[in-house]
Amino acid sequence: TCGICVEKCPFDAIEIINLPQELDEEPVHRYGENAFSLYGLPAPEAGKVTGILGPNGIGKTTAVRILANEITPNLGDWDGAAGWEPVLDEFRGTELQSFLEGLQEEAITVARKPQYVDQIPKRFDGNTRELLAQTDERGVLDELIERLSIGPVMDQPIDSISGGELQRVALAATLARDADFYFLDEITPYLDIGQRMTAARLIGELTGDDRSMLVVEHDLAILDLLADSLHVAYGEPGAYGVITPPKSVKNGINEYLSGYLENENMRIRPNAIEFEEHAPRSVSAGDALVEYPAIEKSYGDGEFSLTVEGGTIHENEVLGVVGPNGIGKSTFAELLAGNLDPDSGSLDANLDVSYKPQYIEIDQPMRVDAFLSSITNDFGSSYWDTEIAQPLQLDSVMEQNLTDLSGGERQRVAIAACLSEDADLYVLDEPSAHIDVEQRVRATTAIRRYAENHDATALVIDHDTYMIDLLADRLLVFDGEPARSGHASPPVGMREGMNRFLADLDVTFRRDERVGRPRINKPGSQLDREQKRAGEYYYTA
Ligand code: ADP
Ligand code: ADP
Repeated sequence: TCGICVEKCPFDAIEIINLPQELDEEPVHRYGENAFSLYGLPAPEAGKVTGILGPNGIGKTTAVRILANEITPNLGDWDGAAGWEPVLDEFRGTELQSFLEGLQEEAITVARKPQYVDQIPKRFDGNTRELLAQTDERGVLDELIERLSIGPVMDQPIDSISGGELQRVALAATLARDADFYFLDEITPYLDIGQRMTAARLIGELTGDDRSMLVVEHDLAILDLLADSLHVAYGEPGAYGVITPPKSVKNGINEYLSGYLENENMRIRPNAIEFEEHAPRSVSAGDALVEYPAIEKSYGDGEFSLTVEGGTIHENEVLGVVGPNGIGKSTFAELLAGNLDPDSGSLDANLDVSYKPQYIEIDQPMRVDAFLSSITNDFGSSYWDTEIAQPLQLDSVMEQNLTDLSGGERQRVAIAACLSEDADLYVLDEPSAHIDVEQRVRATTAIRRYAENHDATALVIDHDTYMIDLLADRLLVFDGEPARSGHASPPVGMREGMNRFLADLDVTFRRDERVGRPRINKPGSQLDREQKRAGEYYYTA
């Protein structure tokens, strides 16, 4: 085995390669004897956005606590006398030196956005307006509220707003501060692509005035757009983490995807993650799972109305569902599941649907293994282990309580629970939220393989373009005006679907010349204009 996989390799590595060993040098910080060690630190740069790309549990928060002067690094001497002098010596002559010196003079102020925004209501009792009022140190709050579309929830209690709204409120609260150093731990969960791009733009604009930004992000298309330089983090979650010196964003992401870090001469994964420049040829479709007629559904007295054109969903396929938030995607899933009745058009599909919602609420005081074994009799069989437990890395969480799981762990358990149900149609709403790139690829493999092996169909709603690209056979595209009206076209092939979806967003992707990875074009650039003229928004070959 290679250290990532326990038994069967989900990446189908032909050759098993030894993955990273802990470095043979002093760490920057070690929490205790045999405890987590961190090697290297990210180097925030004035006027720049610095990205960190890597798995959860690898020391990113530890690094930021050091840069925020909350932890004095001990250079591995965990029971010795701590002090900054030897640390300054260690980093003399590097990009970090002036930052660490500023930290010593207490000249650096820090603003931070936490990773799990869902925790905010536990710590704040009041409405959005009250929360944001405390943060307006730069006098820009009104503009942030406008651009992040927070207006409609200003007078709502914080514990009543959705995850996507909380994410935008948390972004506004952080960016409104007057700080030298901003740390944003994941900006995209629960946001649609338009909102992700707005957040990226706001962060970029704030780097003027010599402020520095450090951003952890797992949506690679957004990270690429946002960051000026990139540190890759690797290691063994919970045991040790290495943060590389800065790389160019392009090389950093390419090396990360290829699984091999060139300067470090380090293989971090047996296989490369690869993208097709050509739209996949439409494979001969399996039997129809459901042919649905045109349907309409509205809520209240027509505050929101959804129109769905009739279409066919095939057995054995993974159907990607794309479109903005608040446009009726979940409503459509609920209609298919028979949990909602349409106003017109009859949907007599009789489908057994297993549903993973966008906002996961599992709060039973129950262990993960007990919870999963209550869902399926296959729990613990070698087949279930290979298909579900291993790709979703459930081993380390089996004995924990559902209520103690981190957001990323809860996501993996919820995906496993959804796939473990016996159903005709598996609907997964934003499976990428809070899981890292590695876990997204593994979850993608698990979902795809599950659909193939069970003649099952999966409908996956997600806003991570790379994940949709790796996952979907066809696309179901939603458009309209969020919270007012939504419209769904019939499912189409990837090329047509991407073109429709991205034309609506006015975004084109080019291809990295070396590895063919899709990259968002600068609006108005020559390529952007050419591709729009040709009507090719995503696949360029
Ligand atoms: P990340 O932000 O990349 O998810 P963290 O820096 O939060 O990672 O944590 C890295 C590792 O350090 C984890 O295994 C965590 O349990 C451990 N850790 C964090 N804080 C402490 C602490 N105060 N004492 C001991 N171990 C800690
Ligand atoms: P999406 O999944 O695309 O984010 P939804 O289907 O969840 O969109 O919601 C579409 C719109 O319908 C939103 O404006 C939402 O607030 C509204 N909505 C959803 N469920 C209900 C309901 N039960 N009653 C009234 N309005 C609802």
